Amino acid sequence: MTQNTPITVARGDGIGPEIMDATLRIMEAAGARLDIEEIEIGEAVYERGCMTGIEESSWDSLRRTKVFLKSPITTPQGGGFKSLNVTVRKTLGLFANVRPCVSYHPYVETNFPNMDIVIVRENEEDLYAGIEHRQTQDVVQSIKLISRPGSERIIRYAFEYARANGRKKVTCMAKDNIMKMADGLFHSVFDEIGAEYPDIEQDFYIIDIGTARVAARPNDFDVIVTENLYGDIISDVAVEITGSVGLGGSCNIGADFGMFEAVHGSAPDISGQGIANPSGLLLGAVLMLNHIGQNDIAAKIHNAWFKTLEDGVHTGDIYDEGLSKQRVSTSEFAAAVIERLGQNPSKFAVVDYGKGGSGGLSLPPLKPRVHQEKTLIGADIFIDWEGMPDDLADTLNSAVIDGLELKLIANRGVKVWPNGRPDTFCSDHWCLRFIGDKSVTHDVILEQLKAIEELGIDFIKVENLYNFDGARGYTLAQGE
Ligand code: NAD
Repeated sequence: MTQNTPITVARGDGIGPEIMDATLRIMEAAGARLDIEEIEIGEAVYERGCMTGIEESSWDSLRRTKVFLKSPITTPQGGGFKSLNVTVRKTLGLFANVRPCVSYHPYVETNFPNMDIVIVRENEEDLYAGIEHRQTQDVVQSIKLISRPGSERIIRYAFEYARANGRKKVTCMAKDNIMKMADGLFHSVFDEIGAEYPDIEQDFYIIDIGTARVAARPNDFDVIVTENLYGDIISDVAVEITGSVGLGGSCNIGADFGMFEAVHGSAPDISGQGIANPSGLLLGAVLMLNHIGQNDIAAKIHNAWFKTLEDGVHTGDIYDEGLSKQRVSTSEFAAAVIERLGQNPSKFAVVDYGKGGSGGLSLPPLKPRVHQEKTLIGADIFIDWEGMPDDLADTLNSAVIDGLELKLIANRGVKVWPNGRPDTFCSDHWCLRFIGDKSVTHDVILEQLKAIEELGIDFIKVENLYNFDGARGYTLAQGE
């Protein structure tokens, strides 16, 4: 007899318990070989004062099972609460978020009958690092971090995923016309890694037009790889145009762990009514069953689910007078899928996931880093100050130390001194760019900070300016 696989399950918030109940019932009826450990996450845990939304003891279960089937949770807004989803992804090293977006024409109303794309979203970096500070009365910052290894890993994952799943093309999306360094790195790593996959067609879009194209012509795309925030937005767009956000399942994959969920959130607007579509979480569970090697059960459920859609048994979100036969509740939908276990769809292609356990893709090690000579050449010293740029320059005049030159003053990335434009709005957040006449030491920067402090000015942060092998490691201010 085949052994059961231990998994961790969390019922989540809002519609979470309803759709998890439906999903577990279907898996049980299909004969999934699972030992389920339940943990509590989300609102109830936040309300007990646990800022992460997950108790320490729950991590033990996750570390033990390494497989997590998770319902959506409600993230409290503001107030110091951390997003549990982000915490789990980062703590367990779930670097890849894979979101298949498929249309189910003619049974689910959509403008795009042949849509079949997969979004591969970087899951650990970018603005989702949540590194934010309030620095002045008027200004807060949110720091975007993009790393070479993080980019390499997700981009390689996308190419390997494409190969393993018979996909023909990988499209990268970013915004390197504006974020020349962060998104520029992501784009250049895409070109570099892509060169190792000549069998796969590849192209690049700026994220704004790319998102518009996904919304208008999704058939132009196959696999899309992108950064965390862009991937979050574009996958909601993509899954929504398949017919309903309730149809999207997703997996979060790392070297040792997998987390499986729906694309959508906890839908508080329909919570408790028993009308939510459980398909997103169910398709997440299908991805999980493949991941743990229960491909036979995954196929059985997926085929029965297709048949249910074909038979016009639809939840309210996809119910359409012309197409649907029966409007059902969440639990009636689950019962309809269970009734069809063992049946195949007649119009949709029958799914066969083969035999063996996939356990996810194994990636080659990261490329060795090419070390570049790093030279400190100056510093951007940020200050909290109110007034006019020329007055600030005059005030600073006496405080610029020997060996440094005050090159410019910028306000929110725009040069305002020298030769600023009077119509540029200036906040209370200023950047003073000091450049050395030769290479600079930390002591020089500390001395400059001291001199600024002696003027009674509050410096709020310092960004060192480096060259790498002589190439500028920072961007110029607009107008510099
Ligand atoms: P949402 O995805 O919960 O809901 C958006 C809309 O889609 C709502 O009208 C909702 O009724 C509908 N919808 C969503 N899922 C559905 C389903 N299965 N069946 C039928 N209709 C469905 O997005 P939101 O309202 O912006 O977010 C609500 C909460 O969910 C927020 O607290 C957010 O932080 C959280 N959230 C959690 C996750 C997650 O846990 N992975 C993901 C996204 C959002």
